[in-house]
Amino acid sequence: MSRARIESVTTSIVDLPLRRRHKFAVTEIEQQSLVLVRVRTADGAEGFGEAVAPGGPWWGGESVETMRAIIDGYLAPIAVGHDLAEVQALRAKMDRQVSENRFAKAGLETALYDAWARSLGVPVHALLGGVVRDSIPVTWALGASDADGIITEATAKLEAGEHTSFKLKMGSQDPADDTRRIEKVATALAGRASLRVDLNASWDEPTATRYLPRLQDAGIELVEQPLPAWDVDGMTRLADRLDMPVMADESLRSEHDAFRLARAHAADIFSLKVTKSGGFTVTARIAAVASAAGIPCHGGTSIESSIGTVAALHSYCTLPAVTFGSELFGPLLTADDLLIEPLDYRDGHLRVPDGPGLGVVLDEDKVRHYSREE
Ligand code: MG
Repeated sequence: MSRARIESVTTSIVDLPLRRRHKFAVTEIEQQSLVLVRVRTADGAEGFGEAVAPGGPWWGGESVETMRAIIDGYLAPIAVGHDLAEVQALRAKMDRQVSENRFAKAGLETALYDAWARSLGVPVHALLGGVVRDSIPVTWALGASDADGIITEATAKLEAGEHTSFKLKMGSQDPADDTRRIEKVATALAGRASLRVDLNASWDEPTATRYLPRLQDAGIELVEQPLPAWDVDGMTRLADRLDMPVMADESLRSEHDAFRLARAHAADIFSLKVTKSGGFTVTARIAAVASAAGIPCHGGTSIESSIGTVAALHSYCTLPAVTFGSELFGPLLTADDLLIEPLDYRDGHLRVPDGPGLGVVLDEDKVRHYSREE
């Protein structure tokens, strides 16, 4: 029997409370729900992965309930009985037998790599090619609350010396009011913080053409995904009109998207996410396209707990194209942690661990405590 034969893949849904409500363009959450994926090998080694989407199916069509059904019913049977060293062949088979469902695939692929790296006694980043950086800057996301609430929260973060870069969520209200709200924040924090906005695909091209120059004039340094995911032509025209960089997120899920966006000059920066792209494999392919096109990459988040966050961290620290920092703030927004030792946030940076696998130890009591009743 092979030492690294995959014996079982099991899943559970975990509901982790947040420190404060987090508001997106179309929904608001008080807890983040995730699917914890557990891979066991024949020799008893375990690997973990997290399948998670930001606040439900609005972002990419997947929810914890659909991810769990896809993993249990369709992806796990492809992996069980095979050797962990076949992970690339297994991923290719998963893509042939299950279309899309990238958030689900990311959870399982992460668990397979964690188990494989643990069985070899090396960190996951070694299997991904080795680190090119041992830490990454972390931008704090302020959600889409009112201007005074944002200014108070950002000022506290600045005074604590924790963060100087902030992302503001937009798109949940009338564009004129939304723009005035951000202008007020930009004026209050001018010279003390760098601010970027994420519209989560909420505006059409005429609205973006009207209001984005005002945000640029207010000192906003970057706009993320102003237009719907499909509107690559509109993104190209906006990127051409604006001096501030346009970042692609919802438009960018596969290496094919990356190629199309690069060829169309539709984005100045790519936001990578291990979750939205189905794991380490496709994230690295997107980063390779970005390198070929001279497009810097940002390490994005789907508000993962510490498990998904450390998985993304291993990926982003191995990719030379990730020169535009990260937003790996998930564990700072959750009210509790699923790890024995929390991740190493220091001076606005997150440091990648060097232990075997993902380099973290799960707190099984916490996992049980927050697991959804079946
Ligand atoms: Mg985004």
